[in-house]
Amino acid sequence: MRDCTKFYIDGQWVDPVTENTQPVENPATEETIGHISFGTKADVDKAVAAARRAFESFSQTSKEERLTLLRAIQAEIANRKDDLALAVSEEMGAPMSLANGPHTGLLAGHCQTAIEVLEKFEFERQDGPTLHVWEPIGVVGMITPWNWPLNQIACKVFPALATGNTMILKPSEIAPFDAYIFAEIMDAAGVPAGVFNLVNGDGPGVGEAMSGHPDIDMISFTGSTRAGVMIAKNAADTVKRVAQELGGKSPNIILDDSAFTKSVMRGTTAMMGNSGQTCTAPSRMLVPNKRMEEAKAAAKEAAEGVIPGDPKGNATIGPVVSKAQWDKIQGLIQKGIDEGATLVAGGPGKPEGLETGHYVKPTVFADVTNDMTIAREEIFGPVLAMIGYDDYDDAIRISNDTEYGLASHIMGEDVETAKKLAKRIRAGRVAINGGYDMNAAFGGYKKSGNGREWGEWGFHDFLEVKAVMGYD
Ligand code: NAD
Repeated sequence: MRDCTKFYIDGQWVDPVTENTQPVENPATEETIGHISFGTKADVDKAVAAARRAFESFSQTSKEERLTLLRAIQAEIANRKDDLALAVSEEMGAPMSLANGPHTGLLAGHCQTAIEVLEKFEFERQDGPTLHVWEPIGVVGMITPWNWPLNQIACKVFPALATGNTMILKPSEIAPFDAYIFAEIMDAAGVPAGVFNLVNGDGPGVGEAMSGHPDIDMISFTGSTRAGVMIAKNAADTVKRVAQELGGKSPNIILDDSAFTKSVMRGTTAMMGNSGQTCTAPSRMLVPNKRMEEAKAAAKEAAEGVIPGDPKGNATIGPVVSKAQWDKIQGLIQKGIDEGATLVAGGPGKPEGLETGHYVKPTVFADVTNDMTIAREEIFGPVLAMIGYDDYDDAIRISNDTEYGLASHIMGEDVETAKKLAKRIRAGRVAINGGYDMNAAFGGYKKSGNGREWGEWGFHDFLEVKAVMGYD
């Protein structure tokens, strides 16, 4: 049993001001695997006061001092990699292969990136008569989701720390244990007291206390568009910066000249990864109308190769994170059927033999039109919607016909054509033939958010720029 009921404030593990212990479930077994405390405004106040005090000196540290700190954190991450992987797998259901792979890999990867970026980063630049100086924004409140929990902590904590900010992290109450271990890592690495603080709790309790807090300078949020809107409204009175990384409904355009069967199969498998719980998941596959039948066969074969099961075994995907998420996904699968999409693979109910645990059948719908609910709403489960298009213009029109604009994907042999199409998509990312880069900007257009994370881009989210001029 993981009993992680303390908070990490001002370099100490402390009890919450008011006791309110809540259970955390393993979605694969539906058993309680531990407890956390839900904090209140009083806990947030303590953490903010500690972070404010620490900001005075931490904001003045040199680049070299912060590099030394990041390298110490990097070493501690390596020491605790197995613990982190197990925690992620147990709290949100990721197969151990995924937990040991990308979940912990992204944490280490973003730490390495922050080191490399900081080594080269210039905090001052003379522009003609003006000296531009980049300075830390101050005390940052970080609110993160459960789906790639370590990645989302990493995207915020490392660039904020590298640029001299202090911070309070509120991880998802659904998957809090990896963050607890992360706080232990920060402690063991010798992060100065008050620079990094951890307060657990839910959105209405701790999250709102943070977003409305007069002494927090910035909220860095990753999560649903629904919560992002609430946070921005709550933060408005204090005019703090709110950087948002929100939901997505990403198109994956399979061009006629791509290695067609392979591309459809790859896109289907990619959709199912992490049980479909990825904000950039290629959830709308766009295929030429004339090849819809061919696409159906390939997607069916790929979906049937995705094996749900025990995260500790050899399954390709684990359960989805909670009963509430399972119910929501089932409702949307039923909507797909009711609205007339063709069910190609999977469907309602649990996979055979997996009655315990929140397992979902890898599901593919074809002949979907972009006005159907399954094409518009973020399902956040292993459910693919295949939509036919007539020509390039039609593919772009469908791609952009969404309130989201986080990621998009294009598969095709002729890279120049793919690049031209990429420029017409209203989204923060376009991956051509599975392109991936840890230094590429990560963030959304439209209702997918307004921040930019990863690489050097993430640094700027946490910096103010000051102009100093007229000194002769
Ligand atoms: P969520 O919005 O329900 O919760 C995210 C975090 O916000 C949690 O810590 C939660 O406690 C907190 N929260 C909820 N309501 C709040 C409020 N009113 N005030 C302050 N904090 C509040 O999201 P989730 O279900 O944990 O995660 C899934 C969502 O996250 C999906 O929509 C997904 O697309 C999105 N996401 C986006 C990105 C990205 O980088 N754009 C990455 C991962 C996940």
